[in-house]
Amino acid sequence: MVSRIIPVETFDLIIFGGTGDLARRKILPGLFKRFCDGQIPPGSRIIAAARSEMDLGGFQEFVTEAIADALGLPEPDQIADFADLLDYVPIDALSDQGWSELAEKLPSFDNTRAFYFSVGPSIFEPLAERLHRHSLVDPNTRIVVEKPFGRDLDSARDLNATLRAHFDEGQIYRIDHYLGKETVQNLMAVRFGNMLFEPLWNSQYIDHIQISVAEDVGVGGRGAYYDKSGAMRDMVQNHLMQLLCLTAMEPPSFFEPDAVRDEKLKVIRALAPVEPHHIVRGQYTDNSETVTYRQDVEDPRSTTESYIAMKCHVNNWRWAGTPFYLRTGKRLKARDSEINVVFKRTPHLIFGPEAGEHNNELRIQLQPDEGITLRVTIKEPGPGGMRLMDVPLDMSFAEALGDDADTPDAYERLIMDVIRGNQTLFMRDDEVEAAWAWTDPIIEGWEARNDVPKPYDSYSNGPTDADLLIERDGRYWRGIGA
Ligand code: NAP
Repeated sequence: MVSRIIPVETFDLIIFGGTGDLARRKILPGLFKRFCDGQIPPGSRIIAAARSEMDLGGFQEFVTEAIADALGLPEPDQIADFADLLDYVPIDALSDQGWSELAEKLPSFDNTRAFYFSVGPSIFEPLAERLHRHSLVDPNTRIVVEKPFGRDLDSARDLNATLRAHFDEGQIYRIDHYLGKETVQNLMAVRFGNMLFEPLWNSQYIDHIQISVAEDVGVGGRGAYYDKSGAMRDMVQNHLMQLLCLTAMEPPSFFEPDAVRDEKLKVIRALAPVEPHHIVRGQYTDNSETVTYRQDVEDPRSTTESYIAMKCHVNNWRWAGTPFYLRTGKRLKARDSEINVVFKRTPHLIFGPEAGEHNNELRIQLQPDEGITLRVTIKEPGPGGMRLMDVPLDMSFAEALGDDADTPDAYERLIMDVIRGNQTLFMRDDEVEAAWAWTDPIIEGWEARNDVPKPYDSYSNGPTDADLLIERDGRYWRGIGA
């Protein structure tokens, strides 16, 4: 089977912050891969903008190194052709320096135009204002913005108001790269493209759902930023919430941006407030090889959480009585992100006690590898009675799709969606605000109680209280990295 690459229309992508970490690690290598696959048509341009003085040759060298670091040494022909698309303009978004040079490079709106705001959110307002002042945008121009989308409801509303003062919501692409993952979209395909799952996708048949995003790295070089944020703001409010929405939402009438986003919004609005005793916050401590979270962030008294586990309920007809257990943390045993849909046991056991009790489980793995596995119960082979065992029905892409399993990185897909003008996988303003409206009271509760996170060992499964949170209900976390 050969995957079809459908070229996008010719475009001009202007990356503000085109020399930053995100551009270097994700955006530029992602664009190169799309170019090599023939998806970027000739006549398209990728223009980086940042304050540093650099000539085009210097920027092309920077991009070649970025690609080599991310993807390995590129073919000389391919990198030479890709370099022809590149340009660089020194601009300070906070002053008027460099804008007329950029305007000269963009004399017409013939190409689809998108500005990637790969800079801190404090720069969004002056940047948006100057783009208009220099007549660089038309009603078809798109902007791409990165998290954080605020740090609470008020600041998210301010940020949305700032963006909407200059652009229509239909022009704003808020990236959550989790939504660009192949498997996340496959979750929708599995749910809504098969008759098999959707009839069972409710509290009558599903015992509980676990959503885990575990990282083995600590906060490292991002300590100062992370310490003002914590796992709740950095991961739960956006990534985990989006995964929860896609797992729990009703089938939209069409696979169309607002239809999908309307259904996701309904899930966030149906989330019940979380009881304080249904949340465990943690902070990593050292082991013989590592430093503690507090050493990493250089604050010996920090009470920011690097881990969170929580039990949530979606208050609607479909999910009444089925808990969603979420957990995420840094410096855990392994890098492992997955959604586990654990089905109820059969209502009556015909095989007797020696057969054991078994749950079917649908495991949707997002990283390190992407894939979907359904665990089914079969007879243990051999003589000696009816013993049952669980075996995986592996729907991993590598197995089924061969070479086509080399799926694009989330950024590659999402940037191409921006050019296509498809907002399905981008968060809408009301989704972001509803997510903050749910998380704010939780964070305010910790602050009011001077809550201190529980310590957990580096490279462990997290705090023991998190185990108790689920074990109290007679359930168990799926093993991290298992
Ligand atoms: P970064 O490494 O600090 O890079 C910032 C970029 O912005 C640099 O190219 C910098 O170049 C440029 N810049 C700063 N001030 C500017 C100004 N006044 N005018 C024009 N350009 C300016 O940041 P980053 O990690 O790439 O992150 C960029 C954005 O993405 C941030 O909002 C961040 O929160 C978000 N994000 C990043 C990641 C990630 O993995 N890095 C992940 C998720 C979200 P000069 O100094 O030369 O101007």
